[in-house]
Amino acid sequence: MYLGRIVESGSHTQIWHRPLHPYTKALIDAVPDPTRRRYAAPLPGDLPDPRSVGGGCRFAPRCPIATEICRTQDPALRAAAAGHHVACHHAAPALVS
Ligand code: SF4
Repeated sequence: MYLGRIVESGSHTQIWHRPLHPYTKALIDAVPDPTRRRYAAPLPGDLPDPRSVGGGCRFAPRCPIATEICRTQDPALRAAAAGHHVACHHAAPALVS
């Protein structure tokens, strides 16, 4: 969830091993792993005030791949694979069923 909205849902394997939403990917990258010698950079910007979100994707101000459509159209939660749903204009559907 991001700012009160589900941005991705699926099985543990789908979410953990094949995340599609940029926020999900950022969350997984932020998990400390002592075997890695580098750590993910924090997301840019601050968490917006949920009372003042605009009409586009709520994650757009912090998303590294946001484009114009992201700032004007709120992406619907759509099926990317069987049991795997994502709300992102640019998330590529998984090539698995
Ligand atoms: S819809 Fe756009 S801003 Fe929102 S997560 Fe996807 S790429 Fe990022």
